[in-house]
Amino acid sequence: MAELKDLQTRQNPNWCPGCGDYGIQAALKQAIVNLKVDPENVAISTGIGCGSKINQWIETYGFAGLHGRSLPVAMGIKLANPELTVIDVSGDGDGYGIGMCHFINTMRRNIDITYIVQNNQIYGLTLGQTSPTSEKGAVGPSTPHGVIENPVNPIRLALSSDCTFVARGFAGDIPHLTGLIEEAVKHRGFALIDVLQPCATFNKVNTHKFFRERVYKLEGHDVADLGKAFEVAAEWGDKIPIGVFYKVEKPIYEDSDVGLKSGNPVKADISDVDVQAVMESFM
Ligand code: SF4
Repeated sequence: MAELKDLQTRQNPNWCPGCGDYGIQAALKQAIVNLKVDPENVAISTGIGCGSKINQWIETYGFAGLHGRSLPVAMGIKLANPELTVIDVSGDGDGYGIGMCHFINTMRRNIDITYIVQNNQIYGLTLGQTSPTSEKGAVGPSTPHGVIENPVNPIRLALSSDCTFVARGFAGDIPHLTGLIEEAVKHRGFALIDVLQPCATFNKVNTHKFFRERVYKLEGHDVADLGKAFEVAAEWGDKIPIGVFYKVEKPIYEDSDVGLKSGNPVKADISDVDVQAVMESFM
């Protein structure tokens, strides 16, 4: 069990003032405290991006992967030690762009990981190019005449990829986001939380004010109704829903993985294994 002070690192984040990542960091830390999990049993995998530095500033285990490749790392961690609480934190460019194939394949595996996507609709770290979730017509350094493509709708993509927990949060509503993270971690299976995360420096359209005026909480929504979830997920404009869109219990990948049948791999007795020979077999 941890208190907030136990999750404090020696350094503080260097995100820009007003960045939505501060809200996500605060919610994630509070959720870890509320869930009463030991920080030493939490592993946070990240990719590349401003927000992906989050695991440098939360005192748990962490791994900074390659751009778009945080989910394979998270899966590796989970399969090596299924007792860990594994949380992947990625950005929209990272997770819905270069990492899109990993996103889809991880969802269909239904492995017990929580995936938080900091969706600021641009590439913040590389100075504001448009991303897969940028709205049509959005102007940026890479699209001076405006985006031509339709944006990815991550909620609908997750619903159509058999994701068993699909939610959206807002970085400006920390208590609500904290609750979503807690629910996602408790969910047995792959859980997506797409988080509206304003980039105060490069996205001058989708600001805190923009979202504060538009987001509303899903209430009285039947989270078991897939059709209704698709319907609500289409809402984007004057009203933007946040909350849990869909939730279902299904067998998880770990239930069927042959390698896990004999128990937790990190606790296996390997005293009679010639580790050197195994290593050399891969050379
Ligand atoms: Fe946050 Fe944008 Fe600054 Fe990156 S560039 S730290 S996303 S405000």
